[in-house]
Amino acid sequence: MPDAPRDPYAVLGVERTATDAEIKAAYRKRAMRDHPDRNPGDPAAEERFKAASEAYATLRDPQKRAWVDRGGAASGGTTPDFGDVDWRTVFQEADLRVDLSEGVPRTGNAVFDALFGAMGTVMRQQGLLPGEDVQARVRIPWDLARTGGTTTVRIPGVATCAVCRGSRLDDTGRPCPACGGTGKRRGNRVEVRIPQGVRPGTVLRLRGLGGVGAPPGDARVTVDVALPPGVERVGDEVHADLAVTPREARRGTRTALHGADVVVPPGTPDGATLRVPGGGLAGDDLVVRVRHAVWRGLGRWVRDKMVGEGGTS
Ligand SMILES: [Zn+2]
Repeated sequence: MPDAPRDPYAVLGVERTATDAEIKAAYRKRAMRDHPDRNPGDPAAEERFKAASEAYATLRDPQKRAWVDRGGAASGGTTPDFGDVDWRTVFQEADLRVDLSEGVPRTGNAVFDALFGAMGTVMRQQGLLPGEDVQARVRIPWDLARTGGTTTVRIPGVATCAVCRGSRLDDTGRPCPACGGTGKRRGNRVEVRIPQGVRPGTVLRLRGLGGVGAPPGDARVTVDVALPPGVERVGDEVHADLAVTPREARRGTRTALHGADVVVPPGTPDGATLRVPGGGLAGDDLVVRVRHAVWRGLGRWVRDKMVGEGGTS
């Protein structure tokens, strides 16, 4: 599509002396005729609709119309800001069925929606369209995954300010200091609640903390779990080695392994596997492979003693 400046008067087919009412009537007529809902799959109609909308948005604004009358870009003067076009009013005035309150234009027409995709960024920034969801990831330690708790998530890129949640104001009604009153911010860090027994790959939805818009999009946070050394995931199960001294293997023992309570029965042979229901992630089993190992077993035994006597785990 050629992007050369078009004479908005010519696009709307009105005289340069046309009144506001005449301009509006001309736009409405063209917009209704070329509305993509009535011309499904007709890219030419789509282009005419867009051009007419641009022309009307230009001529309905006295400043922009004056700029056009002076000769537009050729006049050498300052170009008006076309980023501040109030599309909501533009469409309302033409009685166009465009629901801007939720979701990208709800006409149910794919062509129409694609058309507005191009205007989407501008409209979103003006708060006329819902913001887009943004994706984030967080890697949490094993213990946090098992017990639940809170962690800090960094939202990548520019998103709705997490402090004022896009309202641009702080509690006292002054401009939000975190975003300078813009409602958006790069690199938000937010405290997130991790549910107990979270499954790796779980997506947590942080409402309203995504892209700027009305309403703002959501941040979708994928949770990764960092496995402790010697622990591996096999399907939904988690496998881990447990070193015991030969004496413990002979007599049996009970110990904590990665937060799970493991009972090693007397006479457990080297290489035997024990299954601890709920000892893994998200309530799945922990599969423990028992290893007879004098020194590693002793090391573990000493650690257990320290934990048992008030150390931290
Ligand atoms: Zn803010």
